[in-house]
Amino acid sequence: MARVLVVGAGLTGSVCAALLRGAALGRIAVWDKARGAGGRMSTSSSARDAACIADLGAQYITLETEGAEARRSFYEELLSHGVLKPLTAPIEGMVVKEGSCNYVAPQGMSSVVKYYLKQSGADVFYEHHVTCISLQDGKWEVSRKMGPPEQFDVVVLTMPVPQILQLQGDIVNIINESQKQQLESASYSSRYALGLFYEAGTRIDVPWAAQYITDNPCIRFISIDNKKRNIESPEIGPSVVVHTTVMFGSEHLDSDPAEVQQLILNHLERIVPSLPKPASIKCQKWRYSQVTKAVPNCLGQMILHTQPLLICGGDGFTFSNFSGCIDSAMSLAEAVKSHL
Ligand SMILES: Cc1cc2nc3c(=O)[nH]c(=O)nc-3n(C[C@H](O)[C@H](O)[C@H](O)COP(=O)(O)OP(=O)(O)OC[C@H]3O[C@@H](n4cnc5c(N)ncnc54)[C@H](O)[C@@H]3O)c2cc1C
Repeated sequence: MARVLVVGAGLTGSVCAALLRGAALGRIAVWDKARGAGGRMSTSSSARDAACIADLGAQYITLETEGAEARRSFYEELLSHGVLKPLTAPIEGMVVKEGSCNYVAPQGMSSVVKYYLKQSGADVFYEHHVTCISLQDGKWEVSRKMGPPEQFDVVVLTMPVPQILQLQGDIVNIINESQKQQLESASYSSRYALGLFYEAGTRIDVPWAAQYITDNPCIRFISIDNKKRNIESPEIGPSVVVHTTVMFGSEHLDSDPAEVQQLILNHLERIVPSLPKPASIKCQKWRYSQVTKAVPNCLGQMILHTQPLLICGGDGFTFSNFSGCIDSAMSLAEAVKSHL
C-alpha cells in the first residue's frame, strides 16, 4: 500500500487528495505549514469573535462557459451541499463575462477547501512546514521545520512555484536544468489584504456589497464581506475586506507591516469616510497572490521524478482561480493514479 503525501492544504491539494481517495492507495497525508486550511482561499476570524469572519484571499468563484464541462460537476456538488451559493449582492465595477456565473461561500472560502479535505478522508496536519525532500531506500524522506522526518512512496507538491524552488535536499539536483528554467519563469503578483472586524450590531451604511476601485494608488477592491456572502445577522458583527493594488503590494513587499496597515487605512478613510472604527484588524501579505505567468509547456502538473513519484502542481501550472486549481488537481490525480 503506497503512502502518499500531499503538501499544501489549499484548493489544489485538497481536491487532489479527494480525487485520490479510493484509488488503490494506503493512507493519504496532507501537510501544511499554516495553522488552518485554505491557503490563498483562507478565511480569517476576528480576534474578539470567532464567528465574525472575512475572506482575505479569493473572493468569489466564477464558472466560465468555456471548457466548463469537466469542471461543472465540481460546482454542482458544492452548490448541492450549500457550500457555494450564487452571488446576488451588488459588486460595483465587476467585469461580468457573458454566460459566466459567480458564486460565494456563505461560510467563507476556506469552507470549500475543508469540504474537499473531509471528502478525502486524509490525515491532515497543520504547522508542518516542509523544508527538505531526499531519497532514502527508494522512498521520499520528507523533513519539516519541527518534528522528525517521515517517509512516503509518493509526494505531491502544491505550493506556489517559488516555494517549491526553496526546498532543500536531493530535490535540488533532481529538478533538471530545463525543468528549473520552466519553473523559474513562473511569476506571481503580490498584494496586501486588510480584514476589518466589527462588533455585532455595527451598521455599515454603503449601497454596495463590494466595489472595484480604479483611481487609487493603494486600494483596488473593498468588500463588506458578510454582505457579499449574503450573511447579515444582528448577532454577528460585519467585516470589511480591502485588497491593495499590485503596484502598492510590490512597492511595500518588505515594509514594516504596521506602517503598511496604517497607509491602507488612511486611503480607506478617504474612499469610505463613513466606515466606523473596527474592533480588530488583520493585515495579510500575499507575497504570491495571483499567477501572472504560469509554468510554460505543462498540462497542470510537472513530474520531477518517476520512481518514486515526485510531482508538483497548483495554480502556478494553470491559472489563478477555482477552475485553474481544479484543472491542476485533476491532472495531478490522474498522473498519481497511473503510477500506482
Ligand atoms: C488576494 C487574492 C484574491 C483572489 N481572488 C480570487 C477570486 O476572487 N476567485 C478565485 O477563483 N481565485 C482568486 N484568487 C486565486 C486563488 O486564491 C488561488 O488560485 C488558489 O487559492 C490557489 O490554490 P493552490 O492550492 O494552488 O495554492 P495555495 O492556496 O497557495 O495553497 C498552497 C498551500 O501550501 C502551503 N505551503 C507552502 N509552502 C509550504 C511548505 N514548505 N510546507 C508545507 N506547506 C506549504 C501554504 O501554506 C498553502 O496553504 C485570489 C488570490 C488572492 C491571493
